[in-house]
Amino acid sequence: MEVKDLEAAALLAIKEAKNPEELESLRVHYLGRKGALTGVLRSLGQLDPEVRRRVGQEANRAKAALEEALDQALQALKAAARRLAATAVDVTLPGRRSPRGRLHPLNQIMAEVCDIFLHLGFEAVEGPEVELDWYNFEALNLPPDHPARDMQDTFYFDDKVLLRTHTSPMQIRTMEKRRPPVRIIAPGKVYRRDSDITHSPMFHQVEGLLVDRGVTFADLKGVLTAFVHQMFGPEVGVRFRPSYFPFTEPSAEVDIECVICRGEGCRVCKTTGWLEVLGSGMVHPAVFEAVGYDPETYTGFAFGLGIERIAMLKYGIDDIRLFFDNDLRFLRQF
Ligand SMILES: [Zn+2]
Repeated sequence: MEVKDLEAAALLAIKEAKNPEELESLRVHYLGRKGALTGVLRSLGQLDPEVRRRVGQEANRAKAALEEALDQALQALKAAARRLAATAVDVTLPGRRSPRGRLHPLNQIMAEVCDIFLHLGFEAVEGPEVELDWYNFEALNLPPDHPARDMQDTFYFDDKVLLRTHTSPMQIRTMEKRRPPVRIIAPGKVYRRDSDITHSPMFHQVEGLLVDRGVTFADLKGVLTAFVHQMFGPEVGVRFRPSYFPFTEPSAEVDIECVICRGEGCRVCKTTGWLEVLGSGMVHPAVFEAVGYDPETYTGFAFGLGIERIAMLKYGIDDIRLFFDNDLRFLRQF
């Protein structure tokens, strides 16, 4: 075989080699002691002097060319292997976790409270936080000069428009649109000018309203007792204590046995053994008149509770501001 053809075949094979082992066997095949090119160089002695010189030069040049090609191919394979190693994925390593969010404790309590009433047959309604004085006060038996307005320090935009101080406006808005029976809860944000360790200018309420023929105070007690037992446990004592709200008559605060001391008396319950968790009462006839319901035909009860207060009692939190500081160390505990 001509040296040129030998060289061309060798260069092609080197180019196509896929690993250092293939390159090594090509080196042996062409340049080894019994290699093809080595054979040519060994047989030079049998040639005519003139031909010997020409073939000898050619063979030496081809040998150098093949050595260089082998060397370059080996370096290229090594570099490729290094690149592969650098970008390799170790499938045995543990995966990277993406951070997972969670529900805010207030959202958890809100969902829990709503769930209990939805299962009792109530329907949730939502409405505006910027409210008219009519819905927030007047229709709820709180005319402009009513002293009980002082119970709720209000953010006003002007004489008629305000930030709702409770979600009770949704009772009026719903009754204006529907005829009894009405069974609703109104969850949402409310606003009052008040801020300390147990009060926040914005907080969350769930209010409820049930109106039909023949609804009595016994229905109120039954529904709210069922709620307390589902929320705090069936063993927790409940008591109804006479109270006053302008929009209900008679009115009652609902107390539960202190969840911290189980009625023994502690700092949280101010040694009384009881915690106030709900306001409630039979809907005042004046409220029915404001929405065009006949108070002689229909009766009903209403109730309201603060989500922050329930959450503070349930989790033993003594500063309401912790809910709104957005400190993840606090929020991750729930
Ligand atoms: Zn207590």
